[in-house]
Amino acid sequence: MRGLMQDYPLLVHTILDHAALNHGEREIVTRAVEGPIRRCTLSDLRTRSLRVAKALQMEGIGMGDRVATMAWNTDRHVETWYGIMGLGAICHTLNPRLFAEQLAYIINHAEDRLMFVDLTFVPLLEALAPKLPTIEKYIVLTDAGHLPESGPPNMVAYEDWLAQADADFAWVRCDENTAAALCYTSGTTGNPKGVLYSHRSNVLHGLMVNQPDVFGLTSSDVVMAIVPMFHANAWALTYAAPAAGASMVMPGAGMDGERIYELLDQERVTATAAVPTVWLGLLQYLEETGKDLPWLKSVVVGGAACPRMMIEKFENVYDVEVIHGWGMTEMSPVGTTGSIKHATAHLQGEARVQLKLKQGRSPYLVEMKVVDDDGNELPRDGKSFGHLLVRGPAIASGYFKHDEEILDADGWFDTGDIAHIDALGYMQITDRDKDVIKSGGEWISSIEVENTAVGCPGVTEAAVIGIAHPKWGERPLLLVVAQADAELGKSDVLDWLQGRIAKWWMPDEVLFVDEIPHTATGKIQKNALREQYRDFQFSE
Ligand code: ADP
Repeated sequence: MRGLMQDYPLLVHTILDHAALNHGEREIVTRAVEGPIRRCTLSDLRTRSLRVAKALQMEGIGMGDRVATMAWNTDRHVETWYGIMGLGAICHTLNPRLFAEQLAYIINHAEDRLMFVDLTFVPLLEALAPKLPTIEKYIVLTDAGHLPESGPPNMVAYEDWLAQADADFAWVRCDENTAAALCYTSGTTGNPKGVLYSHRSNVLHGLMVNQPDVFGLTSSDVVMAIVPMFHANAWALTYAAPAAGASMVMPGAGMDGERIYELLDQERVTATAAVPTVWLGLLQYLEETGKDLPWLKSVVVGGAACPRMMIEKFENVYDVEVIHGWGMTEMSPVGTTGSIKHATAHLQGEARVQLKLKQGRSPYLVEMKVVDDDGNELPRDGKSFGHLLVRGPAIASGYFKHDEEILDADGWFDTGDIAHIDALGYMQITDRDKDVIKSGGEWISSIEVENTAVGCPGVTEAAVIGIAHPKWGERPLLLVVAQADAELGKSDVLDWLQGRIAKWWMPDEVLFVDEIPHTATGKIQKNALREQYRDFQFSE
């Protein structure tokens, strides 16, 4: 028997309708790419999004068409999102930090028809545009006065383009499983793969992150979305903030400590989210200037492991709660947050830091488990580590235009991360499955060795890779970047590690290097290191 409740599809634009009607006075404040601070209300945002949808329709864009955006976090970028999705088209966010060949591959694979692009990236397009046969028009997110003289063909100023359309437009009413947005994973191996979000998954994920133990946004919050909108839905903030009625602050291209601080302070931001590198910049700026964070209540740190000093500084010096988050593009992206719960509320000092270093608990709508190589579930004991599998309504079931099956028979998706989960549900990543070192049939966590090594005075960065070994299969090689003025020898690093990691995890060799290679998203390029040290042999 079916329930007798309304068939109300979960469509992304219903969020904006709700926000405009019930929180229309709340603001979206942008550091414009052209320079000044620009303000509008959530009510204005809805009107302009309707105009985007109508102007797109006048271009002949319809259901299922892909429209690309290559832009910073701004009000204009948000209204293009809602406009594209509200028409039934698919918003394809491009990460401008990818290499040109990767961008060309992604755009051609998606067959994007139009591109909204920020001024910053127009020079990039001059070389790229000839390789993008499917793009009919480039709409530069600025006004006619700021439009550059040279650029790709068919380039128009956004404000001129928008001026032709009024807001007399009815959002599409389609099945909630209709595709709404597309984001490619950066693909450390092979070509990037497209994750195709639906209206339903975006709405559910937006609601999920608004749970109190996740980001817990409310109508009194002012949220600064620093994590880029091209980085997996800006971690849902562009849906979650208007759904809650929170004001939004968008930093545009100003990602350095000083400009981030200026907005945090002037706009009295209460909650924000970004990757560790951004927070390093802010913390450095605060230290140099002696400034404070009186308004900020919480900061989400994710995308890469949150360093210990970040937790200590934010919480102990600035009285800002750190929410360590983990996730991935395939998960929309939020998978866990390390919020305190009833059973951990009493923890203080070192015990609290240790808990916050973990990647955290899954909220309702994310299921997770850890399995061994044969697929047997491992106990939630906080030490048995294995492959981390996930399941939920905002997790990918396949990739765009790929036949490859990515779920197992029970619908679980393998994240490619290696982790353990404790009895209270807190998960901790110990490695990527490609990076784990297999020694004598056991696994060595490269991340744990790296994190411990980075704690050694004089060490700036560390990377650990497995080197083939005739007896053990693989043994760890530790690569260290030392501070310029540090007088650091191999024995200093090994002495530091001694007793801090298991004896058989001790690296067989320590090499000092000038730098460690990184990917476009700032992760250590382990495959490049493995290639570089392929013939390395430990001395007897
Ligand atoms: P990409 O793979 O394109 O760089 P993703 O954002 O999808 O971008 O990367 C997801 C991966 O990033 C995760 O599978 C995990 O390995 C890593 N990651 C994300 N958040 C954390 C975190 N808090 N701690 C450790 N690793 C993290």
